[in-house]
Amino acid sequence: VDWNSISPRLEDDADLVKNTTQRIVAKALGAMENYYEYDDFGKPSHTKDGTYPLRANYEEGYNLSLTDDGDVAFRISAAPYKHVKGVLEGSDAHLDLLKTALTGDEWKVSTSETLWRDGEPELHVNIRNTKQTVRDKQDSRMVVGVDVNEDNVALTALSTDGVEDTLVIDFPEIKFERHRYFTMRKRVQNAGKDSMHDTLEGREERFVRDRLHKVSRHIVEWSQQFERSCIVFEDLKEMRDSIDYGTRMNRRLHHLPFRALQFYTSYKASFEGIPTGWINPEYTSQRCPMCGHTERANRNKKRFKCKDCEHQDHSDRGASVNIAV
Ligand SMILES: [Zn+2]
Repeated sequence: VDWNSISPRLEDDADLVKNTTQRIVAKALGAMENYYEYDDFGKPSHTKDGTYPLRANYEEGYNLSLTDDGDVAFRISAAPYKHVKGVLEGSDAHLDLLKTALTGDEWKVSTSETLWRDGEPELHVNIRNTKQTVRDKQDSRMVVGVDVNEDNVALTALSTDGVEDTLVIDFPEIKFERHRYFTMRKRVQNAGKDSMHDTLEGREERFVRDRLHKVSRHIVEWSQQFERSCIVFEDLKEMRDSIDYGTRMNRRLHHLPFRALQFYTSYKASFEGIPTGWINPEYTSQRCPMCGHTERANRNKKRFKCKDCEHQDHSDRGASVNIAV
């Protein structure tokens, strides 16, 4: 055997295998990254640290059930006779959605992924609607722009014929209660009563959550009066990434659980087959819906007056028109 002539070929083969493997892995990672880019619940970092998610089918690799306390219990079997179990922790919106799927027959729990993110174990559960399918948003005839603010949400229904209808839902009580709780929490914190602080926080959260559920139901009901509507929100993810949105946006970002209201509305809409869309929120509060002139000075609190064409409006309503446009 002439080893000198064979070994270079073996090396070539090894390189070929290595290169092919790298290409396949790169492609798979790219596909996952692409997938999570559209994941509203955040982008898992497992593609970066090299840990892969454990995928499982419902009632095969994992199981969920409601406990007597109203929690969601899980049981994950990574291998035969090896399982982990416990109670899921998570945002109210996500747990609410899961409980809906576990109790009704309209929604079904399907596959899940178990993964590590920032040192915490996470269970990502897919749920499917068995009866209603969400309409393709390209097929919409009416766009409902939703502008979420600290004390109201402004809605505008827009078709190719122009503004069809508009509605401002005021919720000054949310702003009021949040400020009241904020002051109370500061006071007990200064007094060193940490447990009281947590109790107040829980109470505030429940209050705000209940109101936001009510408001999100109202938004969906209002949108249902239009045929083939699509509900559109400002994408806060993009907002944080951009540089300057002015003080109004920054203030709004910190003052209301926006994501919660958007998420509640989005999944309640999908219960009714209504699709949702997300837009870049840049300048939605400063642009004139009539002439397009964009200037921060156009807006003065709740009043909008265009410095160019003199158009006047309720500023949040104007923002919802821009979102719809
Ligand atoms: Zn104008």
